[in-house]
Amino acid sequence: MSTVIIEPVGFRMLPALNELNRAFWTGGANGQLLIQRCAACRRWVHPPTSACPTCEGPVRPEPVSGRGSVYTFTVNAHQFHPEVDPPNLIAIVQLDEQDDLRIMTNIVGCDPGAVRCGLPVQVLFERHDEVFYPLFAPDGGEA
Ligand SMILES: [Zn+2]
Repeated sequence: MSTVIIEPVGFRMLPALNELNRAFWTGGANGQLLIQRCAACRRWVHPPTSACPTCEGPVRPEPVSGRGSVYTFTVNAHQFHPEVDPPNLIAIVQLDEQDDLRIMTNIVGCDPGAVRCGLPVQVLFERHDEVFYPLFAPDGGEA
């Protein structure tokens, strides 16, 4: 499956890159969602940190499938930032690789009313210079 990359449709608050989070935020340039994985116990770790919280082993970024499901979500109807138009669908997506591997994101490419917990989703990336912001859309849906 080829990775979908979209151009921004509006304002987005972007992360400050550092050595720990750079792979996560820039992996989309190569079509990859990169998540840290422990070299010792092989558990996936997110958000990025300097050592495995389970065994304190060394972590390094590895690509995941980009598939997951909506763990929980909310539709933000209020304008929390002057440049961000509501509604804004904020979700926590659980990645298929591990039960507790979850990332905060937005769901795009569908009507907010169509989103439900457990909905299968697939990553896509919104390009902002070197940052490729991971978003998710219904698996098989249009971005
Ligand atoms: Zn570990």
